[in-house]
Amino acid sequence: MHDSYIDFANSPVGSRITALLGLPAPLPLERYRADQPVIKGTVLLGAGANPQLLGTLAAAFQSMGAQTLAHRTLPQWTAVANQAGLMTGRWGVEDKPGEKVKALVFDATGMDDSAQSDALYQFFHDTARSVLTCGRVVVIGRPPESCSAPRQATVQRALEGLTRALAKELKRAITVNLVYVAPGAESQLESTLRFMLSPRCAYVSAQVVRIGVPAGPSTAPADWKLPLAGKKVLVTGASRGIGASIAEVMAREGAEVICLDIPQARAGLDEVATKLGGKALALDIGSAEAPAALVAAAKADGGWDVVIHNAGITRDKTIANMKEPLWQSVVNINLSTQERINEALVAAGALKAGGRIICVSSISGIAGNLGQTNYAFSKAGVIGMVQSTAPELARYGITINAVAPGFIETQMTAAVPFAIREAGRRMNSMGQGGLPQDVAEAIAWFASPASGGLSGNVVRVCGQSLIGA
Ligand code: NAP
Repeated sequence: MHDSYIDFANSPVGSRITALLGLPAPLPLERYRADQPVIKGTVLLGAGANPQLLGTLAAAFQSMGAQTLAHRTLPQWTAVANQAGLMTGRWGVEDKPGEKVKALVFDATGMDDSAQSDALYQFFHDTARSVLTCGRVVVIGRPPESCSAPRQATVQRALEGLTRALAKELKRAITVNLVYVAPGAESQLESTLRFMLSPRCAYVSAQVVRIGVPAGPSTAPADWKLPLAGKKVLVTGASRGIGASIAEVMAREGAEVICLDIPQARAGLDEVATKLGGKALALDIGSAEAPAALVAAAKADGGWDVVIHNAGITRDKTIANMKEPLWQSVVNINLSTQERINEALVAAGALKAGGRIICVSSISGIAGNLGQTNYAFSKAGVIGMVQSTAPELARYGITINAVAPGFIETQMTAAVPFAIREAGRRMNSMGQGGLPQDVAEAIAWFASPASGGLSGNVVRVCGQSLIGA
């Protein structure tokens, strides 16, 4: 559903009225376009004491073709960047800020004491007003749980609060995210930087992501514009809404898509699959035969590379009014069936080594929601499944991650009463709902062959919704 308030708030008259009345002023978000570079502008770098990822960052920016500048907290960047063949220079003169930039990246990996936090203050104090609209901010640290000294773990954990507060302060559709890179996983950073610094990350903000040492294959694709070339990707619930958009983005990234939906959705399913040059698979994933049927379909395809569990249902009632079948169907389709399918595909070797499983949770599973005990149980269970099976799946070289959408503009949210819909749309740092494409872009990042260092993560696609924050 189109949010016409965004058009109004950005029209000459509307912008004056919204400013006068103090109404939200959501900006049109920049989203992926094939003809655009990864980052549409300069990246400004800063760092705390003893930054450990400068070489990795220089190589990644070189590969992305990004322009960089160095803040006064990182004078050594010029030498590192030049060595990597990057054009660079110093940002700002003495106390005067430099040019506006599209992105800020702060390497906090070497910080091991909160007494060193001044570098964070200096960098973000100097630069907060110099980030362009729809800009990107990425803070990079070490996972607190990997730190040997309590003070080091403390300052690394503190980055989370800074990131979430910055995401609320910077406004103007700027996203701010924190990436914890485990020691030994440095080479895995590029796929995450490419996502978080690009327009693909339009509705993902205030998130914390952990990159670990990959347990299976994880390599840069031959062509970053077609990272899924040659990959076979199953998308459930693909006949419409978020699922159709996921299938579209997967196909855009080069994948051969297998679009699944219930037999009753055959018409929409065939339309999506035909448009994308993929296959249609009409199957009720909640049925007892579904796991075996999927194993057979995957084997007939020579194995699948990516499985995306998007199909989900809501059957809302307060628990006192809820009949047992409503509870059972939601838990079965949204959760138990996914456990059975994953187990069957892995046991049969139908998901290849280096495979990716991506699940769709919900902020309802994080925050809970009135009338949704069944749905919130199932979606929180998806998070539990991702976190508990990640170490198990690592033995097969398979990763598992989840996205948790907030308010996304779909048929489902279009049916929500006006007042609740408006609250859902505006109560986040972007002042608007996300699009199915925003969920799909985050899934594509997890699906990338270069994202083997990502497993067990749950990333909200919610524009930093206040709900469950
Ligand atoms: P949707 O429009 O209802 O699409 C879900 C699709 O899954 C439908 O085509 C549905 O078919 C299909 N499906 C349901 N049960 C199935 C089954 N047993 N076997 C095969 N396919 C089945 O929903 P959406 O809004 O795109 O949501 C997609 C996912 O995102 C869901 O998991 C949802 O919980 C999650 N999510 C959405 C939002 C949002 O704001 N939209 C927010 C948070 C999370 P039928 O409906 O025709 O049966």
